[in-house]
Amino acid sequence: MMFSMVDLLFYTITDGKEMIPFSQFISALRKTGLLPSDPRLRHGIRQMRQSAHDSSGPVMIDKKLFRRCVGNNVILLTNAFRKHFIIPDFEQFTLQINKIYESAKHQEGGQVADYIPQLAKFSPDLWGVSLCTVDGQRHNVGDTKIPFCMQSCVKPLEYAIALHELGSERVHRFVGKEPSGFKFNKLSLNEEDKPHNPMVNAGAIVISSLIKVTSKILFKEVQLINKYIQTRLSRCSFQSERETGDRNYAIGYYLKEKKCFPQNADMMAALDFYFQLCSIEVTCESGSVMAATLANGGICPITGDRVLSAEAVRNTLSLMHSCGMYDFSGQFAFHVGLPAKSGVSGAVLLVVPNVMGMMCWSPPLDRLGNSVRGIHFCQDLVSYFSFHNYDNLRHFNKKHDPRRRSDDDPNKSVVNLMFAAYSGDVSALRRFALSAVDMEQRDYDSRTALHVAAAEGHQEAVIFLTEICKVNPLGKDRWGNTPLDDAMQFGHGVVVSILQKYQNEYTEKHSSSSSEEHSAALDSMKSSL
Ligand code: GLU
Repeated sequence: MMFSMVDLLFYTITDGKEMIPFSQFISALRKTGLLPSDPRLRHGIRQMRQSAHDSSGPVMIDKKLFRRCVGNNVILLTNAFRKHFIIPDFEQFTLQINKIYESAKHQEGGQVADYIPQLAKFSPDLWGVSLCTVDGQRHNVGDTKIPFCMQSCVKPLEYAIALHELGSERVHRFVGKEPSGFKFNKLSLNEEDKPHNPMVNAGAIVISSLIKVTSKILFKEVQLINKYIQTRLSRCSFQSERETGDRNYAIGYYLKEKKCFPQNADMMAALDFYFQLCSIEVTCESGSVMAATLANGGICPITGDRVLSAEAVRNTLSLMHSCGMYDFSGQFAFHVGLPAKSGVSGAVLLVVPNVMGMMCWSPPLDRLGNSVRGIHFCQDLVSYFSFHNYDNLRHFNKKHDPRRRSDDDPNKSVVNLMFAAYSGDVSALRRFALSAVDMEQRDYDSRTALHVAAAEGHQEAVIFLTEICKVNPLGKDRWGNTPLDDAMQFGHGVVVSILQKYQNEYTEKHSSSSSEEHSAALDSMKSSL
């Protein structure tokens, strides 16, 4: 019987069992970082749940049900369970995130913004952190389901959408690329009479006039970024922003006087659009998916949709890096070394390019307008993990790097395989098989994993390598011994009989079928990944 990839995946998840409860399947899934609510998995999980309703007692997942529900999620789940996601040990990683979260929780101080009631209403104790990796692994800790307004965190998204729609050249005809050195809402332009950058109010207001020109549908773009998680406009915040927006109106008139808007632009409409953008409500959970879209070059990790061009994202990240954190931007770039944007609601949108996006939210703000806990969290994050843009990743570094290392190095794969066989770690062997590792490869003594498992007397490992992986039992090591010889020499009776039986079947089969057929089957199994 040839083992299919789906079966191999099933047994990797169940750790070799023929069936497991549905709840156990979900917790195995969560450990990889995938949530059952993930839009990519939703359909299959619904089908499994459906069977729960149809059967009495706890729902068990067996091979048949798994095959029926797994659909086109085989690749996703295979990558998850063979630890091929960007953060392979997600559980360990999130434990550390929780510790950093807890440490920031104890940070007192700061003032909740109170210029509008929609911000003043929040308790200073609220604190949430969500993250989403470029593979769609997700983690939430604290108050991550409470909606809050994006405020200035929307500026990078607005800028990215403008770049995506209009191109960099057109957008930068109207706005600069330099930090201003002034407060975010200062009435000030650069030497060319353009707003300094898209992250200050003047820049965002001009850009809202550009987007408005091409797109009349208010939330279309922002919602696109987050198709499956609803964002909504807080009408109350919008009204309040309008009523208290004297400074922004002043900026609007100043921009108009200096001819900063494109021809025929409606300044009042641009301001309204800007206020509306600031009043878009998200939660930490949904905000982290937006940040992850920026981390992932414009492709939303949980839907696979390309929502922004790679160039738009690169430009956005560059300006977040230099101008995203108000008058703390230089220090943030120095200490944290990551693109981020904060808002007066206490939100910090943080991007670790090519790894993950995060949304931190805690209303009390420091003197410069950044969330006290948010800043503390970001600093602790990069002092523990080597996420700073200029952290050295090639040489020894005291910091931790949770990213997946490339395991292309063939020597490493032999060592890992041998070590799993030596310690009888069948789960690891299963993972290697699922990753299309060559289970027959040999070490410098010409020994295979089967030699090692047989010499150590690990029955389960021997059964897995023979019955499931169908490895050749006849290979001889440099001393001329087969795995069976090893099992005999070290007196492992049960393994001896397993190997004798397998060896007979193997020789019989291989004298009848050609060996080319076998390797063709193996090849097709590998390429199906
Ligand atoms: N609505 C605020 C303003 O335009 C945004 C403030 C902020 O988050 O920086 O003044």
